[in-house]
Amino acid sequence: MHLTGKHALVTGGGTGIGLAIAKRLQADGATVTITGRRLHVLQDVGQGMNALTMDVTDEAATRSAIARAADHFGPIDICVANAGIAEGRAFAKADMEHWRKIMATNLDGAFTTIQASMETMPANWGRVIAVSSIAGVRGLKGAIAYTASKHGLIGLIRGLSEEYMRPAQPSGITFNAICPGYVDTDIVTRNSRAIAGASGMTEDDAQQTMVRANRHKRLIDADEVADVAAMLCGPNSGSINGQALQIAGGQV
Ligand code: NDP
Repeated sequence: MHLTGKHALVTGGGTGIGLAIAKRLQADGATVTITGRRLHVLQDVGQGMNALTMDVTDEAATRSAIARAADHFGPIDICVANAGIAEGRAFAKADMEHWRKIMATNLDGAFTTIQASMETMPANWGRVIAVSSIAGVRGLKGAIAYTASKHGLIGLIRGLSEEYMRPAQPSGITFNAICPGYVDTDIVTRNSRAIAGASGMTEDDAQQTMVRANRHKRLIDADEVADVAAMLCGPNSGSINGQALQIAGGQV
């Protein structure tokens, strides 16, 4: 229970990876606020957690929701910028509307979430974690905007880790990105359906293309990702900073 007294904010905390991280941080003692656009989803899953509706593409709403969460439950000690969408589109077909939609959620949303959280975060201990993707460290065919947004998240994290480096306080605020391969969540289910619709494959066959893309040939469990997030908040984690941690079953 080493996170007792800490307040963790997890965007997209009502489902998938975000929910697994939220539960794991709660088990370690943190007070947890989960956010998303659908209140009923948050309320259904978040036993003992604070549920807050917040669309990360709406800057003003995001800032005021995070300020409210801090007013009610204390400064944000742990910020997990996890909310994201994964929609594929080949470069030639990726119009500006598609590009902006992905960027607004995955990159702009994380920028606002992290900045608003840090306005409340104590300087002596804080953790900022962005959920990027293996698409943040290598190119993903047919998903040009998603790939760029996830690379951008790693740039954001690396820049912040340098900007907030306080050599005299090695356990101060750390910034890290988590880069999963394909994880068994709704995103994979939706992608399987989309690939099947576009290619004529069955949904099972479409899902197998994602399973094969993970080097160990299985989907990753959301709890495997959550354990890495918990480790980044754990005792003796203060020297892991500015990293992009791959959880992809092998080298990418
Ligand atoms: P989910 O679809 O289950 O999670 C996405 C979450 O983000 C949902 O809870 C959703 O809630 C929230 N969200 C989406 N758009 C917004 C928005 N505009 N404002 C606020 N919240 C929003 O999938 P995952 O758990 O898999 O995805 C979580 C993160 O992990 C994403 O960033 C994704 O890119 C990343 N990732 C996933 C991988 C995978 O294979 N599953 C692999 C690598 C990275 P709501 O709809 O209620 O707003």
